[in-house]
Amino acid sequence: MTTTPTPPATTTGRSLAVELTDLTRVYGSVRALDGLTLHINPGEMVALLGPSGCGKTTALRILAGLDQPTAGTVSVGGKDLTRVPANKRDMGMVFQAYSLFPHMTVVDNVAFGLKLRGQDRAARMRVARDRLELVGLGEQADRYASQLSGGQQQRVALARALAIEPSVLLLDEPLSALDAKVRTQLRDEIRRVQLEVGTTTVFVTHDQEEALAIADRVGVMNKGRLEQLAPPAELYASPATRFVAEFVGLNNKVPAQVRDGRAEVLGSSVPLIAGSLDAGAGLAMVRPESVTLDARSSTPNATVESINFLGPVSRVYLDVDGIDTVMAAVPSPVAVKLAPGDRVAVGVDSTPLLVVAA
Ligand code: ATP
Repeated sequence: MTTTPTPPATTTGRSLAVELTDLTRVYGSVRALDGLTLHINPGEMVALLGPSGCGKTTALRILAGLDQPTAGTVSVGGKDLTRVPANKRDMGMVFQAYSLFPHMTVVDNVAFGLKLRGQDRAARMRVARDRLELVGLGEQADRYASQLSGGQQQRVALARALAIEPSVLLLDEPLSALDAKVRTQLRDEIRRVQLEVGTTTVFVTHDQEEALAIADRVGVMNKGRLEQLAPPAELYASPATRFVAEFVGLNNKVPAQVRDGRAEVLGSSVPLIAGSLDAGAGLAMVRPESVTLDARSSTPNATVESINFLGPVSRVYLDVDGIDTVMAAVPSPVAVKLAPGDRVAVGVDSTPLLVVAA
Protein backbone atom coordinates (compact mmCIF):
# COMPACT_ATOMS: atom_id res chain seq x y z
CA MET A 1 0.00 0.00 0.00
CA THR A 2 1.33 3.43 -0.85
CA THR A 3 0.76 6.39 1.41
CA THR A 4 0.56 9.92 0.16
CA PRO A 5 1.89 12.60 2.49
CA THR A 6 -0.94 14.79 3.75
CA PRO A 7 -0.46 18.38 2.58
CA PRO A 8 -0.66 21.06 5.29
CA ALA A 9 -4.28 22.01 6.00
CA THR A 10 -3.37 25.67 5.73
CA THR A 11 -0.33 27.26 4.29
CA THR A 12 0.57 30.86 3.88
CA GLY A 13 2.76 29.80 0.97
CA ARG A 14 5.53 32.10 2.19
CA SER A 15 8.67 31.19 4.00
CA LEU A 16 11.13 34.04 3.80
CA ALA A 17 14.57 34.61 5.25
CA VAL A 18 14.92 37.43 7.78
CA GLU A 19 18.21 39.30 8.15
CA LEU A 20 18.95 41.76 10.91
CA THR A 21 22.39 43.20 10.22
CA ASP A 22 24.44 45.17 12.72
CA LEU A 23 21.39 46.78 14.34
CA THR A 24 22.05 49.52 16.85
CA ARG A 25 19.38 51.43 18.76
CA VAL A 26 20.41 54.20 21.09
CA TYR A 27 17.93 55.89 23.45
CA GLY A 28 19.74 58.81 25.09
CA SER A 29 22.55 57.17 27.03
CA VAL A 30 21.12 53.62 26.68
CA ARG A 31 22.32 51.31 23.89
CA ALA A 32 19.26 49.05 23.69
CA LEU A 33 20.81 47.25 20.69
CA ASP A 34 24.55 47.22 20.18
CA GLY A 35 25.34 45.63 16.81
CA LEU A 36 22.75 42.86 16.72
CA THR A 37 23.21 40.55 13.73
CA LEU A 38 20.76 37.69 13.27
CA HIS A 39 20.02 35.68 10.14
CA ILE A 40 16.89 33.52 10.26
CA ASN A 41 16.25 30.80 7.68
CA PRO A 42 12.98 30.62 5.75
CA GLY A 43 10.33 28.88 7.85
CA GLU A 44 12.52 28.81 10.94
CA MET A 45 11.39 29.72 14.44
CA VAL A 46 14.02 31.59 16.44
CA ALA A 47 13.47 32.41 20.11
CA LEU A 48 15.19 35.53 21.44
CA LEU A 49 15.96 34.80 25.07
CA GLY A 50 17.42 37.12 27.66
CA PRO A 51 16.87 39.04 30.88
CA SER A 52 14.75 42.16 31.19
CA GLY A 53 16.37 45.08 29.39
CA CYS A 54 18.64 43.04 27.08
CA GLY A 55 16.94 44.48 23.96
CA LYS A 56 14.58 41.65 22.89
CA THR A 57 11.51 43.83 22.47
CA THR A 58 13.52 46.57 20.77
CA ALA A 59 14.76 44.02 18.21
CA LEU A 60 11.21 42.82 17.57
CA ARG A 61 9.82 46.36 17.27
CA ILE A 62 12.52 47.30 14.78
CA LEU A 63 11.80 44.16 12.76
CA ALA A 64 8.10 45.08 12.76
CA GLY A 65 8.82 48.67 11.75
CA LEU A 66 7.37 50.06 14.99
CA ASP A 67 10.76 51.59 15.81
CA GLN A 68 13.70 52.74 13.69
CA PRO A 69 17.29 51.57 14.24
CA THR A 70 19.99 54.17 14.86
CA ALA A 71 22.13 52.09 12.46
CA GLY A 72 21.91 48.75 10.68
CA THR A 73 19.43 47.10 8.34
CA VAL A 74 16.37 44.83 8.32
CA SER A 75 15.66 42.68 5.29
CA VAL A 76 13.02 40.04 4.60
CA GLY A 77 13.16 37.72 1.60
CA GLY A 78 16.18 39.65 0.35
CA LYS A 79 14.33 43.00 0.33
CA ASP A 80 15.62 45.87 2.44
CA LEU A 81 12.71 46.96 4.68
CA THR A 82 14.66 49.27 6.99
CA ARG A 83 12.77 52.38 5.86
CA VAL A 84 9.47 50.67 5.00
CA PRO A 85 6.62 51.67 7.37
CA ALA A 86 5.09 49.05 9.66
CA ASN A 87 1.77 48.85 7.80
CA LYS A 88 3.58 47.93 4.58
CA ARG A 89 5.67 45.13 6.09
CA ASP A 90 2.98 42.41 6.27
CA MET A 91 4.01 41.15 9.68
CA GLY A 92 1.67 39.32 12.05
CA MET A 93 2.13 40.12 15.73
CA VAL A 94 0.95 38.56 18.98
CA PHE A 95 1.67 40.42 22.21
CA GLN A 96 1.58 39.56 25.89
CA ALA A 97 -1.76 41.35 26.39
CA TYR A 98 -4.65 39.68 24.59
CA SER A 99 -5.50 42.86 22.70
CA LEU A 100 -8.71 41.61 21.05
CA PHE A 101 -11.80 43.75 20.54
CA PRO A 102 -13.97 42.38 23.38
CA HIS A 103 -17.34 43.32 21.89
CA MET A 104 -16.62 41.82 18.48
CA THR A 105 -17.16 38.16 17.74
CA VAL A 106 -14.15 35.91 17.57
CA VAL A 107 -14.42 35.50 13.80
CA ASP A 108 -14.75 39.27 13.27
CA ASN A 109 -11.63 39.78 15.37
CA VAL A 110 -9.70 37.35 13.18
CA ALA A 111 -11.06 38.91 9.98
CA PHE A 112 -10.31 42.48 11.07
CA GLY A 113 -6.95 42.82 9.31
CA LEU A 114 -8.45 41.50 6.07
CA LYS A 115 -11.24 44.05 6.31
CA LEU A 116 -8.62 46.81 6.59
CA ARG A 117 -7.03 45.38 3.45
CA GLY A 118 -10.36 45.69 1.61
CA GLN A 119 -11.20 42.01 1.24
CA ASP A 120 -14.90 41.29 0.70
CA ARG A 121 -16.86 39.80 3.56
CA ALA A 122 -17.33 36.28 2.18
CA ALA A 123 -13.62 35.87 1.44
CA ARG A 124 -12.46 37.20 4.76
CA MET A 125 -14.95 35.07 6.72
CA ARG A 126 -13.71 31.99 4.88
CA VAL A 127 -10.08 32.77 5.77
CA ALA A 128 -10.96 33.70 9.37
CA ARG A 129 -12.90 30.46 9.96
CA ASP A 130 -10.07 28.47 8.41
CA ARG A 131 -7.50 30.07 10.75
CA LEU A 132 -9.78 29.45 13.74
CA GLU A 133 -9.92 25.75 12.79
CA LEU A 134 -6.14 25.80 12.62
CA VAL A 135 -5.85 26.98 16.25
CA GLY A 136 -8.63 24.62 17.40
CA LEU A 137 -11.30 27.26 17.96
CA GLY A 138 -13.65 26.62 15.03
CA GLU A 139 -16.54 26.07 17.42
CA GLN A 140 -16.05 29.40 19.19
CA ALA A 141 -16.17 31.57 16.05
CA ASP A 142 -19.46 33.31 16.85
CA ARG A 143 -18.89 33.99 20.55
CA TYR A 144 -17.68 37.34 21.80
CA ALA A 145 -13.96 37.64 22.50
CA SER A 146 -14.73 38.69 26.09
CA GLN A 147 -16.40 35.30 26.70
CA LEU A 148 -13.18 33.36 26.12
CA SER A 149 -10.47 32.30 28.57
CA GLY A 150 -7.03 33.92 28.42
CA GLY A 151 -5.55 30.91 26.61
CA GLN A 152 -8.38 30.94 24.06
CA GLN A 153 -7.96 34.68 23.51
CA GLN A 154 -4.29 34.17 22.72
CA ARG A 155 -5.24 31.47 20.20
CA VAL A 156 -7.57 34.00 18.58
CA ALA A 157 -4.74 36.54 18.54
CA LEU A 158 -2.56 33.93 16.81
CA ALA A 159 -5.31 33.16 14.26
CA ARG A 160 -5.68 36.91 13.65
CA ALA A 161 -1.93 37.35 13.13
CA LEU A 162 -1.94 34.48 10.62
CA ALA A 163 -5.08 35.63 8.76
CA ILE A 164 -3.19 38.29 6.81
CA GLU A 165 -0.73 35.64 5.57
CA PRO A 166 2.18 37.49 7.12
CA SER A 167 5.66 37.34 5.69
CA VAL A 168 6.95 37.00 9.27
CA LEU A 169 5.21 36.12 12.53
CA LEU A 170 6.35 38.03 15.63
CA LEU A 171 5.47 36.80 19.11
CA ASP A 172 6.34 39.03 22.08
CA GLU A 173 6.02 37.07 25.36
CA PRO A 174 2.64 35.72 24.15
CA LEU A 175 2.34 33.26 27.04
CA SER A 176 3.42 35.28 30.03
CA ALA A 177 -0.07 36.35 31.13
CA LEU A 178 -1.26 32.72 31.30
CA ASP A 179 -1.04 30.21 34.14
CA ALA A 180 1.58 27.46 33.97
CA LYS A 181 -0.57 24.64 32.61
CA VAL A 182 -2.23 26.70 29.84
CA ARG A 183 1.17 28.18 29.04
CA THR A 184 2.68 24.78 28.25
CA GLN A 185 -0.35 23.68 26.20
CA LEU A 186 -0.43 26.87 24.17
CA ARG A 187 3.33 26.81 23.69
CA ASP A 188 3.07 23.39 22.04
CA GLU A 189 0.06 24.57 20.06
CA ILE A 190 1.91 27.62 18.72
CA ARG A 191 4.76 25.39 17.60
CA ARG A 192 2.37 22.94 15.88
CA VAL A 193 0.63 25.77 14.03
CA GLN A 194 3.93 27.43 13.07
CA LEU A 195 5.27 24.19 11.60
CA GLU A 196 2.01 23.74 9.73
CA VAL A 197 1.95 27.20 8.12
CA GLY A 198 5.74 27.40 7.70
CA THR A 199 5.92 31.12 8.49
CA THR A 200 9.32 32.41 9.58
CA THR A 201 8.82 33.32 13.25
CA VAL A 202 10.57 35.27 16.00
CA PHE A 203 9.47 34.45 19.54
CA VAL A 204 10.63 36.75 22.35
CA THR A 205 10.76 35.36 25.88
CA HIS A 206 12.70 35.62 29.14
CA ASP A 207 11.79 32.01 30.02
CA GLN A 208 14.59 29.59 29.12
CA GLU A 209 12.43 26.48 29.30
CA GLU A 210 9.93 28.06 26.90
CA ALA A 211 12.66 29.10 24.46
CA LEU A 212 14.38 25.71 24.51
CA ALA A 213 11.06 23.87 24.08
CA ILE A 214 9.65 25.83 21.15
CA ALA A 215 12.40 27.06 18.85
CA ASP A 216 14.57 25.66 16.05
CA ARG A 217 17.33 27.93 17.32
CA VAL A 218 17.62 30.06 20.44
CA GLY A 219 19.44 33.39 20.45
CA VAL A 220 20.60 34.39 23.91
CA MET A 221 20.83 38.17 24.17
CA ASN A 222 22.90 40.19 26.58
CA LYS A 223 23.23 43.97 26.57
CA GLY A 224 21.86 44.47 23.06
CA ARG A 225 23.91 41.76 21.35
CA LEU A 226 23.60 38.07 20.59
CA GLU A 227 25.75 36.11 23.00
CA GLN A 228 25.07 32.75 21.29
CA LEU A 229 22.68 31.44 18.62
CA ALA A 230 22.26 27.67 18.48
CA PRO A 231 19.72 24.84 18.43
CA PRO A 232 18.34 24.16 21.93
CA ALA A 233 20.26 20.94 22.56
CA GLU A 234 23.54 22.52 21.46
CA LEU A 235 22.96 25.63 23.57
CA TYR A 236 22.35 23.44 26.58
CA ALA A 237 25.25 21.06 25.94
CA SER A 238 27.81 23.68 24.86
CA PRO A 239 27.06 27.13 26.26
CA ALA A 240 29.66 29.48 24.82
CA THR A 241 29.88 31.82 27.80
CA ARG A 242 29.19 32.02 31.51
CA PHE A 243 26.18 34.25 30.82
CA VAL A 244 24.61 31.67 28.50
CA ALA A 245 25.42 28.82 30.88
CA GLU A 246 23.72 30.62 33.76
CA PHE A 247 20.76 31.59 31.61
CA VAL A 248 20.07 28.01 30.52
CA GLY A 249 20.08 26.81 34.10
CA LEU A 250 23.64 25.62 34.63
CA ASN A 251 23.70 27.36 37.94
CA ASN A 252 26.13 25.30 40.00
CA LYS A 253 29.55 26.92 40.14
CA VAL A 254 32.08 24.48 41.51
CA PRO A 255 35.80 25.16 41.97
CA ALA A 256 37.85 23.36 39.31
CA GLN A 257 41.46 22.99 38.18
CA VAL A 258 42.13 22.94 34.45
CA ARG A 259 45.12 21.01 33.19
CA ASP A 260 45.94 19.15 29.98
CA GLY A 261 42.57 20.00 28.44
CA ARG A 262 40.51 18.52 31.27
CA ALA A 263 38.93 19.82 34.46
CA GLU A 264 39.38 18.32 37.91
CA VAL A 265 36.04 18.82 39.64
CA LEU A 266 34.93 17.20 42.90
CA GLY A 267 37.46 14.41 42.44
CA SER A 268 36.50 13.65 38.82
CA SER A 269 38.39 14.43 35.60
CA VAL A 270 35.95 15.86 33.04
CA PRO A 271 36.37 17.01 29.39
CA LEU A 272 36.05 20.73 28.63
CA ILE A 273 33.66 22.66 26.39
CA ALA A 274 35.23 25.06 23.85
CA GLY A 275 35.63 28.50 25.38
CA SER A 276 36.77 27.17 28.76
CA LEU A 277 39.83 28.42 30.64
CA ASP A 278 43.13 27.12 29.23
CA ALA A 279 44.76 26.29 32.54
CA GLY A 280 44.67 26.95 36.27
CA ALA A 281 41.94 27.46 38.82
CA GLY A 282 38.41 28.41 37.75
CA LEU A 283 34.75 27.67 38.26
CA ALA A 284 33.01 24.77 36.49
CA MET A 285 29.40 25.44 35.46
CA VAL A 286 27.77 22.15 36.44
CA ARG A 287 24.32 20.99 35.33
CA PRO A 288 22.09 19.79 38.16
CA GLU A 289 21.64 16.47 36.33
CA SER A 290 25.42 16.02 36.05
CA VAL A 291 25.82 16.03 39.85
CA THR A 292 26.21 12.47 41.14
CA LEU A 293 25.28 11.44 44.62
CA ASP A 294 26.23 8.32 46.62
CA ALA A 295 24.47 7.88 49.94
CA ARG A 296 26.47 4.75 50.90
CA SER A 297 29.95 6.09 50.34
CA SER A 298 32.51 5.62 53.13
CA THR A 299 34.08 8.98 52.18
CA PRO A 300 31.19 11.48 52.17
CA ASN A 301 31.98 15.10 51.24
CA ALA A 302 28.56 16.78 51.58
CA THR A 303 25.46 17.15 53.75
CA VAL A 304 21.91 17.11 52.38
CA GLU A 305 20.35 20.52 53.09
CA SER A 306 16.87 20.14 51.64
CA ILE A 307 14.87 18.26 49.01
CA ASN A 308 12.24 19.66 46.62
CA PHE A 309 9.94 17.05 45.11
CA LEU A 310 9.05 18.03 41.51
CA GLY A 311 7.38 14.85 40.19
CA PRO A 312 9.66 12.37 38.39
CA VAL A 313 12.75 14.36 39.37
CA SER A 314 13.60 16.05 42.67
CA ARG A 315 16.02 18.85 43.46
CA VAL A 316 18.44 18.01 46.22
CA TYR A 317 20.38 20.92 47.75
CA LEU A 318 23.74 19.82 49.09
CA ASP A 319 26.19 21.64 51.33
CA VAL A 320 29.48 20.39 49.88
CA ASP A 321 32.36 20.61 52.37
CA GLY A 322 34.41 23.74 51.73
CA ILE A 323 32.17 24.80 48.78
CA ASP A 324 28.85 26.58 48.49
CA THR A 325 25.53 24.84 48.02
CA VAL A 326 25.32 22.55 44.99
CA MET A 327 21.99 21.53 43.51
CA ALA A 328 21.47 18.04 42.10
CA ALA A 329 18.57 16.90 39.93
CA VAL A 330 17.94 13.37 41.12
CA PRO A 331 15.28 10.78 40.12
CA SER A 332 12.60 11.02 42.81
CA PRO A 333 12.79 7.30 43.77
CA VAL A 334 16.42 8.00 44.78
CA ALA A 335 15.66 11.36 46.42
CA VAL A 336 12.91 9.96 48.69
CA LYS A 337 15.53 7.84 50.42
CA LEU A 338 17.40 10.98 51.49
CA ALA A 339 16.75 13.29 54.42
CA PRO A 340 18.20 16.65 55.47
CA GLY A 341 21.37 16.07 57.49
CA ASP A 342 22.40 12.88 55.64
CA ARG A 343 26.08 12.67 54.72
CA VAL A 344 26.65 11.72 51.06
CA ALA A 345 29.44 11.67 48.46
CA VAL A 346 28.91 14.23 45.72
CA GLY A 347 30.72 14.17 42.36
CA VAL A 348 30.11 15.03 38.70
CA ASP A 349 29.54 12.75 35.72
CA SER A 350 31.68 12.84 32.58
CA THR A 351 29.55 15.29 30.51
CA PRO A 352 31.83 18.04 29.13
CA LEU A 353 31.85 21.22 31.21
CA LEU A 354 32.43 24.94 30.72
CA VAL A 355 35.08 26.25 33.12
CA VAL A 356 35.21 30.02 33.54
CA ALA A 357 37.51 32.39 35.42
CA ALA A 358 36.61 32.58 39.11
P1 ATP B 1 11.77 43.23 28.90
O1 ATP B 1 11.87 41.73 28.95
O2 ATP B 1 11.78 43.85 30.25
O3 ATP B 1 10.69 43.73 27.99
P2 ATP B 1 13.69 43.66 26.80
O4 ATP B 1 14.83 42.70 26.72
O5 ATP B 1 12.58 43.46 25.85
O6 ATP B 1 13.16 43.73 28.27
P3 ATP B 1 13.87 46.33 25.73
O7 ATP B 1 12.44 46.65 26.05
O8 ATP B 1 14.22 46.05 24.34
O9 ATP B 1 14.34 45.10 26.61
O10 ATP B 1 14.76 47.50 26.31
C1 ATP B 1 16.19 47.53 26.16
C2 ATP B 1 16.73 48.77 26.84
O11 ATP B 1 16.30 49.94 26.14
C3 ATP B 1 16.27 48.96 28.27
O12 ATP B 1 17.33 49.51 29.01
C4 ATP B 1 15.13 49.94 28.15
O13 ATP B 1 14.99 50.68 29.33
C5 ATP B 1 15.58 50.81 26.99
N1 ATP B 1 14.42 51.35 26.23
C6 ATP B 1 13.54 50.62 25.52
N2 ATP B 1 12.63 51.44 24.93
C7 ATP B 1 12.95 52.71 25.27
C8 ATP B 1 12.41 54.01 24.98
N3 ATP B 1 11.34 54.15 24.19
N4 ATP B 1 13.02 55.08 25.53
C9 ATP B 1 14.11 54.95 26.29
N5 ATP B 1 14.67 53.76 26.61
C10 ATP B 1 14.12 52.65 26.11
